[in-house]
Amino acid sequence: MKKESVLELEKRFKYLIPEPPSDDGYIHDLKLFGLMCNDGWYNLVYVLFTKIDEHLEYMSDKNKQNFFVSEVKEKWGGLRVYLHGFDNDNLIRKAENISQGICEDCGKKGILSQINYWWTTLCDECIILHTKKGFDRRKTELSDERLSNQFIDNLFDNTEKYDKFLKEQKIVLPQRV
Ligand SMILES: [Zn+2]
Repeated sequence: MKKESVLELEKRFKYLIPEPPSDDGYIHDLKLFGLMCNDGWYNLVYVLFTKIDEHLEYMSDKNKQNFFVSEVKEKWGGLRVYLHGFDNDNLIRKAENISQGICEDCGKKGILSQINYWWTTLCDECIILHTKKGFDRRKTELSDERLSNQFIDNLFDNTEKYDKFLKEQKIVLPQRV
């Protein structure tokens, strides 16, 4: 993610600010690497953490104290969010599933695809760009047609729209054990 995007997110969600290693001696990936996904998912990450914030309000003070963000990254073409001390897995799974329908580079609707053995979620234009120029995310720009916060928010809250989106974007839900 671009530096200005990361700063915006850190300003809004304080727990995304990397801290020095804690006393337990374990250094979490967020602290080492920060947010490891591209700007096309900015709105998705923003909406997700707004919902995480809302959910934290309902958690006990003790649980809230134990809460921290361990990782936010791209893996196998989808968003992965690892939280500690959070009890709403459904929210995280939904965000991860939705990410497989949003171009990680420009934020338009995208499809999970494979380039040179790398799984990635991109729109038709971004995938052509990558195929021609080689895989370099730094050269991509956000699209004016990127999915809005409101659209993404609807996907979380409206089961009908969520199901339709998964179908349209050919999203195959990963098996979880
Ligand atoms: Zn794109």
